[in-house]
Amino acid sequence: MCINADAAKKLPENMATCLCNVAFNLEPEMKWLPVWRYNKARQELLLSCPNCNFRTGAFNNKPAVQAFWNACNRHGDAYLLELWRRDYERQREQTKTA
Ligand SMILES: [Zn+2]
Repeated sequence: MCINADAAKKLPENMATCLCNVAFNLEPEMKWLPVWRYNKARQELLLSCPNCNFRTGAFNNKPAVQAFWNACNRHGDAYLLELWRRDYERQREQTKTA
């Protein structure tokens, strides 16, 4: 298993990896930890995957963002994977029209 090391240093140990490795059957198995993004104007943080750009909602405190990420990316749950795919597609549409 392979993990992006820079992100791992800045995150708590129990962070979930992005579901993109499951959703897209990445070969060889590559797991991605999210990286922090900070919006200075709004003073909000979010986490986003450096591989697929899946992102959480934005909050003004880290624990809320981490909880959001872990809730979206829990592995081994088929229903959650469907939700993940839906959010991923939605975010791609938003990025296109932004
Ligand atoms: Zn991802």
